[in-house]
Amino acid sequence: MHEMSLAESMLDIVESTARKHHAQRVTSVQFELGALSHADREALAFAFDVVARGSIAEGARFEVIEVPGTAWCMLCSKTVGLAKRGDACPECGHYQLTVTQGEAMRIASIEII
Ligand SMILES: [Zn+2]
Repeated sequence: MHEMSLAESMLDIVESTARKHHAQRVTSVQFELGALSHADREALAFAFDVVARGSIAEGARFEVIEVPGTAWCMLCSKTVGLAKRGDACPECGHYQLTVTQGEAMRIASIEII
């Protein structure tokens, strides 16, 4: 499962950050998920819960912050909102779009004790 490997690489980052700060436990993880990325937030939260078992982040609260998708429209010469990949420009209806935001996934912050 795609989300499982994402969750594993996230856990790596969470664990090394926690170690660096001499944490005893990770209590929550905030994660930014682009609206245009292919990961499912429910599946990701579930996967993280599974991979975190037995780790310093076991039982951590997992929050997903959704980052909206945006794209640059060549015809409008401006940035427009994009609900999903493959959609037309909401302003002019054409498809000359370059995605500028919403594809990325990253850890925004973690809380430790
Ligand atoms: Zn346009």
